[in-house]
Amino acid sequence: DVALTEPADLQSLLRADLRGGTPYGAPQLDVPVRLNTNESSYDVPPEVVEEITRAVTGVAPHLNRYPDREFTDLRTALAAYLTATTGVDLTPEQAWAGNGSNEVLQHLVLAFGGPDRTALGFTPAYSMHPIISRSVGTTWVDGLRGQGGQAFDLTAESAVAQVREHQPNLVFLCSPNNPTGTALDLDVVEAVYAAAPRAVVVVDEAYAEFARPGTPSALTLLEGRPRLVVTRTMSKAFAFAGGRLGYLAADAELVDALRLVRLPYHLSAPTQAIALAALHHADRMLATVEAIKTQRDRMVTELAAMGLDPVPSDANFVLFGGLADAGRTWQALLERGVLVRDVGIPHYLRVTAGTPAETDAFLGAIAEVEGKDR
Ligand code: PMP
Repeated sequence: DVALTEPADLQSLLRADLRGGTPYGAPQLDVPVRLNTNESSYDVPPEVVEEITRAVTGVAPHLNRYPDREFTDLRTALAAYLTATTGVDLTPEQAWAGNGSNEVLQHLVLAFGGPDRTALGFTPAYSMHPIISRSVGTTWVDGLRGQGGQAFDLTAESAVAQVREHQPNLVFLCSPNNPTGTALDLDVVEAVYAAAPRAVVVVDEAYAEFARPGTPSALTLLEGRPRLVVTRTMSKAFAFAGGRLGYLAADAELVDALRLVRLPYHLSAPTQAIALAALHHADRMLATVEAIKTQRDRMVTELAAMGLDPVPSDANFVLFGGLADAGRTWQALLERGVLVRDVGIPHYLRVTAGTPAETDAFLGAIAEVEGKDR
């Protein structure tokens, strides 16, 4: 009798530390103005679509074979892209990739975290850092921002004190920081690295291409720092979120260690081919970055003019406060066809910068909902 041999309750089979947990869950709703996951609102340009289609046609007959497990061509192209855009010399052996930067973050935690180990981040920051850490049994420590007076700033002094207190095996820094939008000064990265001699220090630069002028990448600090890792993604400025390609740069020996934890052939042949095609057209894929930054700055200016409280941003989104009830505002915007993100900070919401028409729709809706003049 099946019923007699079936366990009573699935929750009791689940790992104890996962019971009652909630998965990552930004709503995917079909509304006219989707500004909640920091994607690009711009479609892939037709000439790149053509090249991507050719690339898929090229690999299709060979899908009977496993793809290049070391994705050598892609690593070469990613290293070349970073060198071209930041001036930092990188070899293909220093580049690594996964299905989105979430996967490369997971590789890092699998290799350097795990049971009996601790990861430290500075909250509010990217919500997946703790989720990925905990999913492989790493103890997560919610560090604090705003100790220096400004609500969401992270000073070197405060970060170093927290690193000394918790002695983590992994430190997550996010620059520009999601959801607050501001980039970190490199002196924070340098100080954290020096204060944590037994930790791998990860700087999540998912939004680096949107940073305001004069914001250097932590890639410039890699030389001579074998425990430093900089993660990037093609999901944001590159307008390629559906392609699922994230990557990192670090010391070649650290990168080599990630081969111990990745699943064999984790990047499919189509993924490698389409990412290469997109990288080949980096200029076209990145062509809308300046236009998006213009909309971002316009949202900051206009939200401030309405008397709301936007945080200056180096990313493709704006966190803004001054809302009596963020949840109610979120719902009222949705009823007007505008989807933004409630990141769980009381009185704040986050909105992605998209097209000028989307900015118009968002600003019109928020003014109406909050009873502000424009
Ligand atoms: N890091 C940060 C800071 C992010 O905001 C995101 C996406 N929201 C990611 C990493 C992961 O993106 P992806 O897996 O698409 O590369």
